[in-house]
Amino acid sequence: MRTEEPRAIHLADYRAPEFRITTVHLDFSLEPEATHVTAKLQIERLSGSGPLTLMGENQKLLGVALDGRALSPGDYHLDDKSLTLTDPPSKLTLEISSQINPAANTELEGLFLSNGMFCTQCEPEGFRRITYFLDRPDNLSVFTVRIEASKEQYPVLLSNGNRVGGGDLPPDENGNGRHYVAWHDPFPKPSYLFALVAGDLGSIHGDFTTMRGRPIALDIYVEHGNEPRARYALDALKRAMAWDERAYGREYDLDIFMIVAVSAFNMGAMENKGLNIFNDKVLLATPETATDDDYARIESVVAHEYFHNWTGNRITCRDWFQLSLKEGLTVFRDQNFSGDERSHAVQRIQDVRALRARQFVEDAGPLAHPVQPQSYIEINNFYTATIYEKGAQVIGMLKTLVGDEGYRKGTDLYFDRHDGHAATVEDWVKCFEDACGRDLSQFRLWYRQAGTPVIEARGTYDADARTYTLELTQSLAPTADQPEKKPMHIPVRIGLMGKDGSALPLTLDGENRAGPDSRVLEVTQKFQRFVFVDVAQEPLLSLGRDFSAPAIFRNPLSLHQRAVLMGKDSDAFNRWEAGQTLAAEIMLDGTSHTDYIAAIGEVLARAEEDPAFAAQMLMPPTESELAAKKTPVDPPRINGARLALVRAIALAHQDRLAWLYEQMRDAGDYSPDARSAGRRALRNACLRYLTAADDEAAAGLADAHYRTATNMTDMIAGLAALTRMESPLRDSAFTHFHDRFRSDPLVLDKWMSLQAGSPLPETVTAVRGLMKHPAFDLKNPNRVRALIGAFGANHLRFHNGDGSGYRLVGEVIRALDGVNPQVAARMAGAFESWRRYDQDRQAQMRAELVAIRDLPGISPNLFEVAGKMLN
Ligand SMILES: [Zn+2]
Repeated sequence: MRTEEPRAIHLADYRAPEFRITTVHLDFSLEPEATHVTAKLQIERLSGSGPLTLMGENQKLLGVALDGRALSPGDYHLDDKSLTLTDPPSKLTLEISSQINPAANTELEGLFLSNGMFCTQCEPEGFRRITYFLDRPDNLSVFTVRIEASKEQYPVLLSNGNRVGGGDLPPDENGNGRHYVAWHDPFPKPSYLFALVAGDLGSIHGDFTTMRGRPIALDIYVEHGNEPRARYALDALKRAMAWDERAYGREYDLDIFMIVAVSAFNMGAMENKGLNIFNDKVLLATPETATDDDYARIESVVAHEYFHNWTGNRITCRDWFQLSLKEGLTVFRDQNFSGDERSHAVQRIQDVRALRARQFVEDAGPLAHPVQPQSYIEINNFYTATIYEKGAQVIGMLKTLVGDEGYRKGTDLYFDRHDGHAATVEDWVKCFEDACGRDLSQFRLWYRQAGTPVIEARGTYDADARTYTLELTQSLAPTADQPEKKPMHIPVRIGLMGKDGSALPLTLDGENRAGPDSRVLEVTQKFQRFVFVDVAQEPLLSLGRDFSAPAIFRNPLSLHQRAVLMGKDSDAFNRWEAGQTLAAEIMLDGTSHTDYIAAIGEVLARAEEDPAFAAQMLMPPTESELAAKKTPVDPPRINGARLALVRAIALAHQDRLAWLYEQMRDAGDYSPDARSAGRRALRNACLRYLTAADDEAAAGLADAHYRTATNMTDMIAGLAALTRMESPLRDSAFTHFHDRFRSDPLVLDKWMSLQAGSPLPETVTAVRGLMKHPAFDLKNPNRVRALIGAFGANHLRFHNGDGSGYRLVGEVIRALDGVNPQVAARMAGAFESWRRYDQDRQAQMRAELVAIRDLPGISPNLFEVAGKMLN
């Protein structure tokens, strides 16, 4: 908590460090309320003649020694954020002792307690809460760590690297046994990758042999009893290790790779060198406790954190403005891994859906920022969808532009050139210019300009000349930080389709042989014209295939033409896209649904060919997705229009839906594989329609679905249908679920989320009631996200006309800020689009935001977010 106005940090102010800490010896004596930390630092001057300032906060300094000589307080300057030596020698050894209180650390940054175990979170600036240090990513040090603790309470003591020692120590004054373990990590790393874990933990073990035959021990640590729930993560880890060798030629480097699951964690997971720390939500799974979506998420997060070993750890970021260098790239890698393991089309649809839901909204609102931001007040606020998801899309475009081979050449060069260094986004792009001989100067604007480009197409066919002229216009609206935008370098993948759905060759004027069926046009100007020759018939344009850029593609087609693309486009992504656009037009503009319902009939007729894809096709845009398309947003109207469309589909295709529902029933044991998950997804999509009437028969079917389910995926599908209904069956099913899983917080989170997401009028009251449930805990981010986060995403009820939804979320954010500012700032995202709503709702949301911003003692995290939203 700080009282002064927080100051912004600017990329332009970056200065190379004047000092480097080459080696660190850390000594921990762990006690929940009084942990002693001794840091012995070898420091050398790199340049300049200025003072040595080490960042440090939330600790009691016990002593400082310079080259073995104890310093008195007059020898250094100490304030609540740093420790400074005004005239240090050019080489020195500094020994710093301090005391910290992990038990009081509710911010969950630095060293804290999670359900009785010690663990750390140091990215981005948590290490300064452990000791005084050059806590910046361009300071790379070799770490040796010795941890001492009660042997009985904390039998497992972990840190980065390889274990180099350990043993029993004399008992403490109360006669309790003590022990220690020492760890050494030979790879120099920034302090944000430091990790420590201590607790009474169970574990499972596996092994992996690298492509050069090196054996690697794999250990996953969990709370006792959870061992079987970590099996899938171990399996995913091995597949990720093999994939990174195949796809990028990257081999693991230490002898041991460890993962620990913890219950109180701000992030999803953290890639600390050799010791990944996971939010248990994205690690633990059994068929009885996790859904197919959970399994897919675990697979992708395990892979993501593992992939960071090269993209993040071996090559790290020079400063936090380069965050997307590691995050955008690693998300791109995990998305490709998941696509290879599952289905590329389904993966692409899900990634784009997530991008639009979070990143497009960010780009269109007051929090818009480039993939490489130019300034921040609180770096924790910049772990955003733009840095992660748009950053990944930018790398996908780069790959499209240089081709698969060029991409591999570029990444090989990047690993060769920058291994062991703290790099920049510029370094990354330069590798592709050098490896592929391309000029990417205009492409760099993707890192510098915020906002979502719009690409409008206009096609004209000349039957006599047999030519098709395609005119593409790009535009980028101003954002708060940038009033003027330059044209971007955008890869636009297109195809042309004949009346019967056949592909027409794309031959550009001047080419002397028939072109391909699908091609990438490089758009670099505001307006560009492409002329295709030998076009045998008037074509239908398929624009932005495979979502070739994070842009809004506008293809002016009739309802009927969209329905044709939805049924026949050879590009799976654009089949889905045509369906989404069509459905949105029906719901927002009230146009006829005849073509769409007929096209859904074709989807259902072919659904068995690819159930996972069909399930995606059957899901119309969500209420939030619709809200992002048209202002002023009218939440009850959107809800009503969507329900009406779902009911119309259900009515038109009832028999086929019921037949598929039976066909997709699985008889055998549960398996989380993609094919089985796809069948369940399709069956549950059918259930959504078959229960759309929300009447007694629908409640009966949903209840039967829930009661006969043999896995969590189906149980949740049944409950999700019931949660919309006013039925006694709803209450009894929710009670049944609660009683069965009352001692399992992760599963109760799902129970809370479903109730918070209900469209029923009394949802606000229900959420207020659930906040008093013994399982709810403001100190645990998973609980807060499950209940309040899910409610904030409930478009209809969060935007209740009486403002009750806003007040609820506003109150929680204000209470949470004193406990965990990072999570509080994130929750405030619920208000991000407030200007898109009607006057009444705007005024109510604005009032909440003002009350948040004026909160006495507000954290810099929340201040920055609320302030930007109000400006
Ligand atoms: Zn990451």
